[in-house]
Amino acid sequence: MVLPDPADTPVHAAPRVIIVGAGIVGAATAFFLSRAGAQVTLLDAKVPASGASGASDGAVSVASKRPGPMMALACEARTLYRQWVAQGVMDGTYHARPTYLFARTEEEVAVIARQGADLMELGERILPLTHDELMQRVPGLGQHVLAGMKVPDDGHALGYRVVDRLLQISAAQVLRHTPVQRLALSDNRVVGVVTPQGTRVADAVVVAAGLGSGALTGLDDVLIPRKGQLIVTDRATLNGAALPGPLLSAGYLAAKRRMVLGQSSTSLVIDPLVTGQFLIGSSRETGFSDRQTDVLTVSKLLREALAVYPALARQRVIRTFAGIRIGTRDGLPIVGPHPSLPGLFIATGMEGDGICLSPVVGAAVADMVLGNPVRYDVSVLNPARFGALPLSQGS
Ligand SMILES: Cc1cc2nc3c(=O)[nH]c(=O)nc-3n(C[C@H](O)[C@H](O)[C@H](O)COP(=O)(O)OP(=O)(O)OC[C@H]3O[C@@H](n4cnc5c(N)ncnc54)[C@H](O)[C@@H]3O)c2cc1C
Repeated sequence: MVLPDPADTPVHAAPRVIIVGAGIVGAATAFFLSRAGAQVTLLDAKVPASGASGASDGAVSVASKRPGPMMALACEARTLYRQWVAQGVMDGTYHARPTYLFARTEEEVAVIARQGADLMELGERILPLTHDELMQRVPGLGQHVLAGMKVPDDGHALGYRVVDRLLQISAAQVLRHTPVQRLALSDNRVVGVVTPQGTRVADAVVVAAGLGSGALTGLDDVLIPRKGQLIVTDRATLNGAALPGPLLSAGYLAAKRRMVLGQSSTSLVIDPLVTGQFLIGSSRETGFSDRQTDVLTVSKLLREALAVYPALARQRVIRTFAGIRIGTRDGLPIVGPHPSLPGLFIATGMEGDGICLSPVVGAAVADMVLGNPVRYDVSVLNPARFGALPLSQGS
C-alpha cells in the first residue's frame, strides 16, 4: 500500500481502511483486514446484508462453478469456510452437504459429463449416477430425470448469517445508513470518501458496494444487474419431502458456462434448508435491478420443480423474493487495485458466486491493501482488464 506523504498526514500505527458496502464481500474483507491489525470502518447506504447477500441462496459449491479460475477459486473458498468452522468463526452458520446435478435430456447428460471431467481435473470427488442409482439416492424424484451426478464435498451458508458472524468477530466499525456519494481525491489519489454526514479520510478505500460500485469506480458500463427470483416453502413434515442435498439442473450449469453472453434464463435449483424448508430458484433476468417477483416466473419455477421433485406438492409457498446479482461484461468478478487511482481497491461483480467466493476475495483484497503477498491468485480478476476506468464527472 502506498501511504500518504508522512509530512502532511498524521502517522497512524494501524492503517485506516474504509470499506464501502457491508455485504458479504465487504464483511469478509473487513474480517481479514481487522485480523491483520488495520483500523477498519464499513459504510453501508442501508444496513449490513441489505443487498444481494441478504436476498440469495447460500450454496458454497464447487460443483456448480464455471470451469477455470472460478472453479479453482471456489475450491479455495470452500477450504477457507471449513477453516472458519474449525476456528469457531462460523458458529453453525456453514454446513457441509453434497450437491446433486440432474439431467432431463441427452444434451444435459453431456453437460454434466463435461462438468464432471472438469471437476475431476481439479481433484474434486464426483459420483456419476444412472437413472436408477439417482432414484435410489434421492427418493421421490420425478421419473423423467435421466441421470445425474453426486458431488459430495460442497457446503451451504446463508449470506446474511455469514455477514452477521464476520462483523461480530471483526473489530470493524460499522456505519449504517451512510451512503458514499463520491470518493475524496487529493493529487489524483483516493484519500477518503464523501458522505452526507461529511468527508472521512483513510489510507485506503475498498469499494465492495455491489451495483453501487459502478458510479464510484468508473465501472458503470461494465457491471450488469441480473435479477433472480426465489420461492420459499414451509417446513416439510417428518415423513414428507426430504432431500439429501440440493438438486441442481444441468441447465444451471449450461447458463453458467455461457454467462459471458449475458442472456436471461431460468434454471432450476431445489435447495433443502437446515430448517426443513425448501428454497426453489431461480431466474437470471439480465438488465433488471428491481426486487419484484412476478407470477409468470414463479409459476414456471414451481411447475419445473414439481416435475423434478413431485413430493414438493404437499408444501405451502410461504414467500417469494428477488435479489440482484451483479455480473460483468466478461462474466468474471472484479477484484484488485483501481488501474488509475492509487489508494482505491475494488471487489465487486460476484454474480451468483459471492457467498461462495467471499472468503477468498476478502483475504486477497486485505493482502493487496496491506501490501502483502497476495495469498490467492486472483490476477485474472484485475480491474485493469477493462482499461483505465476514468470516473465520470461528479463521481
Ligand atoms: C437469487 C440469488 C441467488 C444466489 N445464490 C447464491 C448461491 O447459492 N451461492 C453464492 O455463492 N452466491 C449466490 N448468489 C450471489 C450472491 O448473493 C452475491 O454474489 C453476493 O451476495 C454479493 O455480495 P456483495 O457484498 O458483493 O454485494 P451486496 O450483498 O449487494 O452488498 C453491497 C452493499 O453495498 C451497499 N452499497 C451500495 N452502494 C453504496 C454506497 N454508495 N455507499 C454505501 N453503501 C453502498 C449496499 O447497501 C449493500 O449492502 C445469489 C444471488 C441471487 C440474487
